[in-house]
Amino acid sequence: MPKLTVKVDPDLCIGAASCVTIAPETFQMNDENKAYVLDHGTEPGERTYQRTFDVTADEMETIIMGAQSCPTLAIFIYDESGKQLFPDV
Ligand code: SF4
Repeated sequence: MPKLTVKVDPDLCIGAASCVTIAPETFQMNDENKAYVLDHGTEPGERTYQRTFDVTADEMETIIMGAQSCPTLAIFIYDESGKQLFPDV
């Protein structure tokens, strides 16, 4: 399974929540109306803007679609080697 690092930049997030609509198993809104990244079975509990976890190909596609839906491009996705997959660089 590929490993992804998913990061939300809370300074860019405007709380539009489209990432939550598309990928609710990965993104949820916190009390400050910023999207945070769910734990996918690792380090449960803590609400954090960045996590690294294993994903299936389907999950990876959904997470990238969620990132693409963000109007401010506040979501960044990196592969295991640290290469940025989204937004395209
Ligand atoms: S889509 Fe972007 S702006 Fe909207 S909640 Fe998600 S990260 Fe924040």
